[in-house]
Amino acid sequence: RAKEQGRNNYQYYTEELTTRAMERLAMENSLRHALERNELVLHYQPQVDLHNGSIIGMEALLRWQHPEIGLISPNAFIPLAEETGLIIPIGEWVLRTACVQLKAWIDEGLPKIRVGVNLSSRQFNQNNLDEVVASALRDTGLPPSCLELELTERTIMHDAENTVTILNKLRALGVQISIDDFGTGYSSLSYLKRFPIDRIKIDQSFVREITSNPEDAAISQAIISLSHSLNIKTVAEGVETAEQQEFLRSRLCDEIQGFHFSHPVPQQDMCQLLKDGVKLESKHAFIQEERV
Ligand code: C2E
Ligand code: MG
Ligand code: MG
Ligand code: MG
Repeated sequence: RAKEQGRNNYQYYTEELTTRAMERLAMENSLRHALERNELVLHYQPQVDLHNGSIIGMEALLRWQHPEIGLISPNAFIPLAEETGLIIPIGEWVLRTACVQLKAWIDEGLPKIRVGVNLSSRQFNQNNLDEVVASALRDTGLPPSCLELELTERTIMHDAENTVTILNKLRALGVQISIDDFGTGYSSLSYLKRFPIDRIKIDQSFVREITSNPEDAAISQAIISLSHSLNIKTVAEGVETAEQQEFLRSRLCDEIQGFHFSHPVPQQDMCQLLKDGVKLESKHAFIQEERV
């Protein structure tokens, strides 16, 4: 009886595995086609300067407009793209699309802000990354200083020696570099002086309770002070309330990004925010994304 049960369990296990493997394969296939079928889209989330209230940057955030499922969040497919290597062509598409978009707006006379593009570990470690970035800039004509590459601590700490070399090559192109989700990964602060970094993005986990939790307030304050003494700017991520915004302003954080000012929005809406010259204090309609 025990034997029978064991066999059943085994069968169940393999069936489940097979189903999952097949689902994965189906997902991988449709992700592979997503690019060719133009199902990938970029939404943009504005970043606001706390010193003067104007929009000074935006982050390009990838979404998958799936014909049946709807708008899919990057966390649901980026890991698979990373594992399969699809992140390389997808990442290059993101880079080029973001550059084309901002260049078109600048040519229309809109402010010369910057666009932040997220790079995954696999992209960061591809050996011709600097050429990929250089050719995207060359082909689109976007001024290099308008492009910011966002890297996580995990990515840059993986092989610190190599990181210095890669970052120096990228910096030589004139692009800006930021550390994303700062404070959540394993990192040694001493690297901040060796890595050429323009901006640190304080992770939203510290911002969430910044006005009520003294530890979060202290950590955020320490990140801001340290960054400033190293000549690095700070952006707070995930700012959802006016109180968080004022707290960060009083602590001399340079920039904020979050739902309080604006959700990530489709390109037409981002363009409208820039055209209207929307500032931190001005009232505008909040557009919320609907996605799975
Ligand atoms: P991230 O780079 O840290 O991006 C910020 C995330 O926080 C975005 O999630 C954004 O929608 C969300 N967010 C912004 N403001 C708020 C707020 O006030 N409250 C809360 N709770 N969340 C806020 P999203 O768009 O789902 O992206 C998730 C992650 O996916 C990104 O985190 C980034 O790591 C990755 N990702 C997005 N686009 C790309 C891409 O083109 N390439 C790569 N490699 N990764 C990407
Ligand atoms: Mg980011
Ligand atoms: Mg982040
Ligand atoms: Mg994140």
